[in-house]
Formats: sequence, C-alpha cells, structure tokens
Amino acid sequence: MDRMFGRPIVTQEQMRMRIRELGRQITMDYAGKDLILVGVLKGAYAFYADLARAIRIPMRVDFLVVASYAGKPKSSGKVKMVTDLTEDIAGLDVLLVEDIVDSGLTAQYLINTLHKRNPKSIKICSLLSKPERREKHVPIDYVGFEIPNKYVVGYGLDYQQKYRNLPYLAVLDTVDDDG
Ligand code: 5GP
Repeated sequence: MDRMFGRPIVTQEQMRMRIRELGRQITMDYAGKDLILVGVLKGAYAFYADLARAIRIPMRVDFLVVASYAGKPKSSGKVKMVTDLTEDIAGLDVLLVEDIVDSGLTAQYLINTLHKRNPKSIKICSLLSKPERREKHVPIDYVGFEIPNKYVVGYGLDYQQKYRNLPYLAVLDTVDDDG
C-alpha cells in the first residue's frame, strides 16, 4: 500500500508532534469546563483517537456520522447526518473533531445543527484545512495542518472508502480535485 503513494505530505512523526501540541492547548483551554469531544465519522476516527488521548482533563466522548461526498472526491454540496449523537449536549462545551475542512459546508451544517441543542459553547478542531477551497466562512478554532488544494488520503481519510488505514497522509495524484 505504501508504495502506491510515495512520500507522505504529513509523516507519522509530524502528526504525533502536532497532535501532542493540540492536546496541550485544548487541555489548557478547557480546564474546569464540561468538555464533550464529538468525533465526525468516518474521516476523523484516527485523529480523534490520538487527540483524545493527548487531552488531559476528564471529558465525555461522542460521535456522529455525516455523509457529504458519497464516495466522490468532490463535494456534492449536500451534507446529511447519517447517525446522530447519543448524548444530550445542552449546557456542555462541545468540541467538534473533523478530519478536514474543505469548502466548509460540513462544518457550517454541524455548527448550525448542534447550536440548536443549546450547548454552552461549540468549537471546531480539524486535523486539516484547505483554505483555498473555502466557500463558507467557518471559524476553525484548532487546526493541525493547512494543506494545498490536493486530494489527500490516509490517517482516516479515504478515497472511495479505502486507504483510511494508511498510517500517514499522502496525496492521491489520480484524483482531479479542481472543483
Ligand atoms: P467540506 O464540507 O468542508 O467541503 O468537506 C468536508 C469533507 O470532505 C471531509 O470531512 C472529507 O470527508 C471530505 N474531503 C475534503 N477534502 C478531502 C480530501 O482531500 N481527501 C479526502 N479523503 N476527503 C476530503
């Protein structure tokens, strides 16, 4: 599998270091708060597992599943919640954990949807951001890495549901991602 992608654009070591920093920052920012870490599946699963263990305060965990790309590399422009949270987030400090913010549609949809449930606060932590592709302005409070406009796979991110288990992040050259 590794041979297909050549050099990673974010290595396992870079990922480990950055997630440790994010964990420290979130630990400081959320000290004394009632944090619930909400993973946006499937893409965030690997990042979520590592980030959660880098946060050193008691917190709740929960997950939701969204579908926005339906197996295609480009955004279909529609976001749907396929599986909802199991916890009531009213009064809690919600931190959404995403794999990547691209157009911003998913992040905006989730903020709007979850806001209606009266959390005390709601913020976003995304492993990756592609600022060049942004259509919706959504503040991302914590970003792992800003990357260029390339289609990436690995570390949770897929191409047609595969390659999520690649332990680093690599560019998938065969995908035309010009919009
Ligand atoms: P947005 O709604 O911000 O346009 O897109 C968010 C979703 O698009 C991400 O959660 C991810 O599933 C998918 N996505 C965007 N860019 C990429 C990419 O480069 N690689 C992969 N695998 N998924 C991407």
